[in-house]
Amino acid sequence: MSDQKMTLVELVEKYRSIADFLNTHWPLKDKQQQTFARIMKLVEELGELSDEILTSMNLARDSKIAKFSQENMQDEFADVLASLILLAIELDIDVEKVMRKKITFTRERFGMDSKRSMV
Ligand SMILES: [Mg+2]
Repeated sequence: MSDQKMTLVELVEKYRSIADFLNTHWPLKDKQQQTFARIMKLVEELGELSDEILTSMNLARDSKIAKFSQENMQDEFADVLASLILLAIELDIDVEKVMRKKITFTRERFGMDSKRSMV
C-alpha cells in the first residue's frame, strides 16, 4: 500500500467513483430508496464495528474472542467511514466544507484559539 497521504477531498472523490459504480450496477427505484439503503448500510457497519470493539474488550463469546484481530477491527472502521462518505455523497454534502465549519465551531466553543493555545 502507498505511503502517500490522501486528502479528505481525494478520499471523497475516490468514493464518488465507487458510488457511481454501485448506482450503475445495483440501481434502486429512486433517490429516497437510495438514501435509505445508504443509511441502513451505515447502521449495519456501525453494528459490525461495535461487535469488533466488544470482542476486543472480551465482551463476546469465547469463539469470537479467539478469532479477534486488530486488522478486522480496522476493516470495520473503514467500512463505517466508507458508508458515511457514501451517505454524504448521496445527500450532496460537501464533507470538507462541513468539517471545516465543525472544527471552527468546536475550537470556538472550547475557546481553543483564545485561551492558552496548548491544544
Ligand atoms: Mg463490515
